[in-house]
Amino acid sequence: MPESYIDKNEGKVGYETTTAEKILAIALTVFLLIGGLRLAGAIDRLFPHPNYTLIRQEHFPANLEAEFFTLQQKYHELRVEVQRYTDAEARARLDYEKAREEYRTLLDRGVDDPVKKLRWEQTRNQLEQVQKNIETAQTTLNNFRADLFAPKEIIFRAAEQKFQEDFNRQARTRNLKAGISLLIYALIMFILSFLIFNFFRTRSGLSRYALIGVSFLGFGALQALIVSFRIVYPYLIGIIPVEAIVSIGGSTISIAGIVYLKNRFFSSRAIRNRRLWKKVCPVCGFPDPGNHCSWCGSAQLVECPSCKKLTNEYLPRCRECGEKL
Ligand SMILES: [Zn+2]
Ligand SMILES: [Zn+2]
Repeated sequence: MPESYIDKNEGKVGYETTTAEKILAIALTVFLLIGGLRLAGAIDRLFPHPNYTLIRQEHFPANLEAEFFTLQQKYHELRVEVQRYTDAEARARLDYEKAREEYRTLLDRGVDDPVKKLRWEQTRNQLEQVQKNIETAQTTLNNFRADLFAPKEIIFRAAEQKFQEDFNRQARTRNLKAGISLLIYALIMFILSFLIFNFFRTRSGLSRYALIGVSFLGFGALQALIVSFRIVYPYLIGIIPVEAIVSIGGSTISIAGIVYLKNRFFSSRAIRNRRLWKKVCPVCGFPDPGNHCSWCGSAQLVECPSCKKLTNEYLPRCRECGEKL
């Protein structure tokens, strides 16, 4: 295949694309994304999450949890009891003060009521009893806390902390491995999609289906974005500078893509080729240029070195003899 054939195809960029084709191209991107993200999910599942129960068992000696929770329950009950007596004391004090007041008021008037006096003494005894109960309950609570609950709590909290540290460390390691694997997957898929895009663009027989290549490229780019932000970002945040890597990497890829597309489709050669296909002046785009362009004056014809006849100056081959110019 002559080299110039590809050049001519570059000029065919202006293939018309119908709305139906565009919708199908978007649908293709979506279908590719569904499959690609499913694959990403499968890669993610290849890395098992640390087993919470198993790691917990390693850090908690047999029955430690059960013993601690039983003690905690008992401690709670003792505290409730102290509170209950404290509430009872408030009520008993109120009864006592009321009875005393009633008795004294009558006494001030010169009446020594034996019923009121008895009531006053009874409420005073009740108050004293409740106060004793509080003291006993508080002592029981303090002893229980000092002798049983506090020592067990220290052991339990230490085990809890070690367990949390171990579990978090294993989870971090797991997420680091999975996150890097997913980043590599997304990058490979992006490069692959770009190669497919390029394949459709450059193959002469396939260039009219270039939209399929665009769908693939769109899939690769979108998947890289989604995988970065939905999966990789939460896994790696705090472990490696994800934002910096994604930002710098993404910017580099985007700039490279823009430069590539610009050179490919908007280079002076590509523009000139498109104008030749439209049969307008390749220098300025004015229609029907004749021997010299009536707008810019540039010569359109040149003498062929092989057959010495006049042919288009800007085309790769002589229109009379077909030799390369
Ligand atoms: Zn011109
Ligand atoms: Zn010729």
